[in-house]
Amino acid sequence: MVGRPRATVAAMASYRPGKSAAQAADEHGLDEAVKLASNENPYPPVPSIVAAVAAAAGDVNRYGDHRAAELRAALAGWLDVDAERIACGCGSVGLLQQLFLAYVDPADEVVYPWPSFEAYPVDVAITAATEVAVPLVDEAFDLDAVAEAVTPRTKLVVLANPNNPTGTAVHVDDVRRLVERVPDDVLVVVDEAYREFVTTDLGDPVHDLQPDHPNVVVLRTFSKAYGLAALRTGYAIADSTVVAELDKVLIPFAVNHLAQVASLAAIEAADEARAVIGRLVAERDRVVAALRADGWNLPDAHANFVWLPLGERTDALYPELERRGVVVRPFPGVGIRVTIGTPAENDRFLAVLAEVATAG
Ligand SMILES: *Cc1c(COP(=O)(O)O)cnc(C)c1O
Repeated sequence: MVGRPRATVAAMASYRPGKSAAQAADEHGLDEAVKLASNENPYPPVPSIVAAVAAAAGDVNRYGDHRAAELRAALAGWLDVDAERIACGCGSVGLLQQLFLAYVDPADEVVYPWPSFEAYPVDVAITAATEVAVPLVDEAFDLDAVAEAVTPRTKLVVLANPNNPTGTAVHVDDVRRLVERVPDDVLVVVDEAYREFVTTDLGDPVHDLQPDHPNVVVLRTFSKAYGLAALRTGYAIADSTVVAELDKVLIPFAVNHLAQVASLAAIEAADEARAVIGRLVAERDRVVAALRADGWNLPDAHANFVWLPLGERTDALYPELERRGVVVRPFPGVGIRVTIGTPAENDRFLAVLAEVATAG
């Protein structure tokens, strides 16, 4: 080993992104495969976004606007909040890492339900924090247990709502009860990467919670619903003092120019995007109904994926799906997460699943 990496980094596993469809097809000698593993939008962004990015491509010799001032202003108008309450980041995972860098010292505790988004333990490891993982109950958050896990060492509580990978969700009133039990110098981060896919009324932490509780931080993204995953553009709505700390640890120009252009265009095209989201939600509901009709037991799905809590069966089933060209996301020993794709992709998943396994 060259150099002396920090012990906490040396001990970390490398990030392993899911297999692409092409890699899986290659590996298993198939003509083609489908990737339903990363919760991406299967549809390209709406044409006005593509056109805006194409038109801006010639400007990339200059640095973009580090502060993304125009985007912050547009988000503020869109969300009806003050612009000082908006931070932009290199994806919402970038903002999450900024939160850790700004707020978490070594050995500080970070509390989150588990299983949840796999970026959280990575940031725990990078900052040498102490993870306090609170087990889910029936695939859903146990918010009483989350509140009880908070100690004087806790700096952050992180809730993915809807949760990844289980797709379960909680109402803002439940989050409020949690926040009321947490000291007000602990940040409660509500990661709403999938908010746009929610079709039941869960309330809005920005307008229902933040006015009373400035320690609530909301993270959102253009990656999933708006189909801009590759451009890396996320945003936070938070107290202006939290935004100021986040901005200090933002890598210069990490919110790149094309990401800013695309996000502005996405706000303009929000109505068109809603039509795409509606198609995905209808497909999600169709897939859930089909799986239940086949006898599979799965929680209500609030995001753009479904969760099969297969436990020990996961490890045997996952490779069978991949061998037949359906790449999904396994959580070894726990379950399989399947992203909602196009209707044809979803049909292929359902057919392949029925071929390799029966429910029960
Ligand atoms: C996909 C995902 C994100 C991702 O976001 P980017 O904005 O692309 O960085 C954040 N949180 C959760 C829970 C996710 O599943």
